Amino acid sequence: MKQELRPKTIYLDNAATTPLDPRVKKAMEPYWEKEYGNPTSIHGMGRRAREAINEARATVARILNCRESEVIFTGSGTEAINLAIFGLSRSKIWTGGGRGHVVTTKIEHHAVLRSYEALEKEGFEATYLGVDKNGLVDPRNMKAALRLGTILVSVMYANNEIGTVEPIAEIGKVIRDFRNESLEIRNSKLGIQRKTPFFFVDACQAAGALDMDVQKLGVDMLALNGSKIYGPKGVGALFVRRGVKLKPLMYGGGQESGLRSGTENVPAIVGLAAALEIAQKDRAKENARLVKLRDYFIAEILKRTPGAILNGHAQNRLPNNINISIPRLEGEAVVIYLDEKGVAVSTGSACSSTELIPSHVVSTLGRSREYAGGSLRFSLGRNTTKKDLDYVLKVLPDIVTNLQKIHG
Ligand SMILES: *Cc1c(COP(=O)(O)O)cnc(C)c1O
Repeated sequence: MKQELRPKTIYLDNAATTPLDPRVKKAMEPYWEKEYGNPTSIHGMGRRAREAINEARATVARILNCRESEVIFTGSGTEAINLAIFGLSRSKIWTGGGRGHVVTTKIEHHAVLRSYEALEKEGFEATYLGVDKNGLVDPRNMKAALRLGTILVSVMYANNEIGTVEPIAEIGKVIRDFRNESLEIRNSKLGIQRKTPFFFVDACQAAGALDMDVQKLGVDMLALNGSKIYGPKGVGALFVRRGVKLKPLMYGGGQESGLRSGTENVPAIVGLAAALEIAQKDRAKENARLVKLRDYFIAEILKRTPGAILNGHAQNRLPNNINISIPRLEGEAVVIYLDEKGVAVSTGSACSSTELIPSHVVSTLGRSREYAGGSLRFSLGRNTTKKDLDYVLKVLPDIVTNLQKIHG
């Protein structure tokens, strides 16, 4: 492989994962070779590793505006999501007959959707809410879906494929109001004191770009991960509001308040906190830069590609997300041809791109099938420049025209 003959890769797949920030790498470095103690050990090495985790937890708690004891570190975003969903529903908070009712949306990440499907197999009843043509969940539909037996609601903060940002605070209010209004009925009818449902938010795609204040958002649980915010892969965090009881998924040494047994991944935890801190500190400035690039790219690509349409909401969308559908086009083929030109992009989500079926998100938006096959996601990052985008705008139209000719 003669790498030097290739142009440098223009990486526009930051929604799949981001590069590690050099500052994050530096923060992590001591905890592999120098301070490698087990945080559970009593000696100095152990205590220093414990101290590093405590500091990381304090950083995350400050950004989420919650207590340190409400932050649980996990081995990935997926694990944080599974802990929230199974941990809550298996804690047997519903005693009114059946196993209880759970609500989510049709556009969640597979970590949520597959977990809900597993819950259904365990006997839970699930409602999957649709979204409007821009991918937005309507809080009124949420209100209509809630029942006395609803124990859990999951809504993603921002969609990983189409970038739509959901009205989490509004949905949170709908859920709180329902809890308060139905408390008396629940008390007299069923003798249940607990205020359900609980509200879980998958914020994996949002943590680097949006406000993460869990009090303002009005959520009970919230998941984020390192790999989408210029931190390390294979680490996540779950906010669990005090009073929300979860059943662990893993049993052992009782780390992370008994919710995630297993020796803590100290460098990854330190890295996650450092990455979150940097992303949140630079958020306003970086978002403004990205929105400008994003809107320029959207306008140009729609102009230069006949029939192309934008998926997701024009304004309520992640600053770095562009998702378009092009008629009579296999998204996968475009990805391969762009790769030849040194440009890395994705079809829908990284996790479904091996499936060669229309994305579950884009097909929910009510587009015809001819559009769903051709959805392409360009996700910008800290390293993206206007020059990179101009190069893509130059090479893309020919690729599209040639492929459309082949497909007839
Ligand atoms: C990436 C992602 C996940 C999964 O996170 P992992 O750390 O890869 O397990 C879950 N939800 C959303 C919205 C994501 O973007």
